[in-house]
Amino acid sequence: MSYRVTLIRGDGIGPEVIDATLAVLKATGLKFHFEEAIAGEAALESSGTPLPEDTIESIRKNKIALKGPVTTPVGTGFRSVNVGLRQALELYANLRPARTFKGVPSRYTDVDLVVVRENTEGLYSGIEKIDEKRTRAESVNLITRKASERIVRFAFEYASSENRKQVTAVHKANILKATGGLFLEVAREMAAKYPAIAFDDRIVDNMAMQLVRDPNQFDVIVTTNLFGDILSDLCAGLVGGLGVAPGANIGDSCAVFEPVHGSAPRHAGKNKVNPSATILSAVLMLKHLGEKHEAERVTRAIKQVFLEGMSTTYDLGGSASTSEMADAIIEKMDDGRE
Ligand code: NAD
Repeated sequence: MSYRVTLIRGDGIGPEVIDATLAVLKATGLKFHFEEAIAGEAALESSGTPLPEDTIESIRKNKIALKGPVTTPVGTGFRSVNVGLRQALELYANLRPARTFKGVPSRYTDVDLVVVRENTEGLYSGIEKIDEKRTRAESVNLITRKASERIVRFAFEYASSENRKQVTAVHKANILKATGGLFLEVAREMAAKYPAIAFDDRIVDNMAMQLVRDPNQFDVIVTTNLFGDILSDLCAGLVGGLGVAPGANIGDSCAVFEPVHGSAPRHAGKNKVNPSATILSAVLMLKHLGEKHEAERVTRAIKQVFLEGMSTTYDLGGSASTSEMADAIIEKMDDGRE
């Protein structure tokens, strides 16, 4: 059997980290049929829109996508492709695991936490305006009971299925009494339905400090869109940086797997950056497909490459290229073949 997967190579370093990931997926021996689709700058050049309808349709049809990062202009220009994709496909849960690996330089050990970020509303609702003279601007922080319930339920269900012990809701309900207040209220109500999982909550500024001081006290973190975006980069920093931080965008019918990092344009085309974040995103995809054995084989191989430190990229203190690191991972997968 062959898995049909929409493939978006993305901009900047996207094509390089995707190539490395495709080589690793090929080495699993599983059969994939990748349907190429475009988004971001590449799509804007060839089809006049950064997020063509064909791309959305391809994911709708295949229900699964592997995606490289895409560039979004800052301050002006087209709307974020990522936000557009997440909203169009109702990919309401952004799952971003952060864990320490032996051999990956980090100030901490034994960190293993997951940020579950609401992906469709909050300050990313897209309801924005600015007056003609550019003297006054507004961005609406939309929070609904429906979206809050489904993301908090997702966090508790994820915690249950992954045998995790605690969910922490992060908010700013002391100041944002309406939006933060509603999110917290829903989180507390949902927590009551999962008595086997400990629940607590933190105000986001305190959470940032606590995460840096002692990340090991947290397990699953559930939060609104903007706080989740910021805290998941912070968590990536706790465990060795964006080069090792995978992500998944999950909805009721589709899922898109992509690294937390962006298109890092200044590194593009140099075969230099770390492919691990994208390969680990593909591991999340393998788990989602039920290919637990292959997911574990790839994870073991990556861990071995981190541990030995002979074939890692510059961000991990090594001098290997993107493709050399992928080759080393593939070699370790072969070592692990039963
Ligand atoms: P970025 O994540 O692209 O890069 C920030 C820095 O992190 C890089 O300069 C580099 O030092 C490091 N880094 C990132 N990925 C790395 C890797 N694989 N290996 C080693 N080091 C790595 O963030 P940015 O510069 O703020 O954003 C660049 C563009 O990416 C922007 O247009 C932004 O909108 C976009 N972006 C896209 C996504 C996405 O598609 N999901 C996510 C974040 C940012």
